[in-house]
Amino acid sequence: MTKDFIIGSFVTDSVIDYPGEVCAGLFCYGCNFRCPYCFNAPLVLGPPDRSKYPRDEVLKELKRRKRFLTAVVLSGGEPTLFTDSVIELATALKEMGYKVKVDTNGSRSSQLFKLKESGVIDYVAMDIKTIPLFYSNLTMPLNFSQDKLTIEILTSIEVVKMFPEYEFRTTLVPGFHNEYTFRNILAMIDKVKRYTVQLYEEKPSVIASHDIKGFFSVQDLQKFRDILNSNSLIEKKYVNF
Ligand code: SF4
Repeated sequence: MTKDFIIGSFVTDSVIDYPGEVCAGLFCYGCNFRCPYCFNAPLVLGPPDRSKYPRDEVLKELKRRKRFLTAVVLSGGEPTLFTDSVIELATALKEMGYKVKVDTNGSRSSQLFKLKESGVIDYVAMDIKTIPLFYSNLTMPLNFSQDKLTIEILTSIEVVKMFPEYEFRTTLVPGFHNEYTFRNILAMIDKVKRYTVQLYEEKPSVIASHDIKGFFSVQDLQKFRDILNSNSLIEKKYVNF
């Protein structure tokens, strides 16, 4: 696999992807997970197309848009597969005066630490897919043993908390999450600044919608809200359902 953060999608403006900022989003090709509900299937499954959004052209466009935007989100795919390239890109964006956020699945804690040490990433958002024991079932990771995956996720949670700003996020998926998993996700992240929970949305472009069966009842949703509301270790909570 290439080591470059090859841009496969470019969102020119957004007010929802970086809290408090008006941002652009750059999405890279390539991921080491295959979450069935992933709506970025073309990026995850590739093949990468360098000619779609050449980096120099995108940087020129971001320079032009600096009057309207304050931040850029580097997402994917999985940006920590291309750490050096992410640092290079983030450095160029910082020189233009942008804040930089990185989205990650938390599977590469040492690369995440490298990003933190670079000092050019202002904000990191990590997806907490489920509890470590069930990660393989849900995310269908490529080339991870259960032990390796557990260590990576738990270590990444601690690394994320070292960034200046951070958040954790969970997408609740019918058949994969219940009261038990949700309580244990919250126990796993422990004391955090910001946590967002949303529901899986059925879209034709997701990786494997046939793996997702059933639906959450009104009572299930209320239970999730109650569990979150009763948690006093999370400073800011956002529920998108
Ligand atoms: S971690 Fe999952 S949801 Fe995120 S890009 Fe990879 S396959 Fe998609």
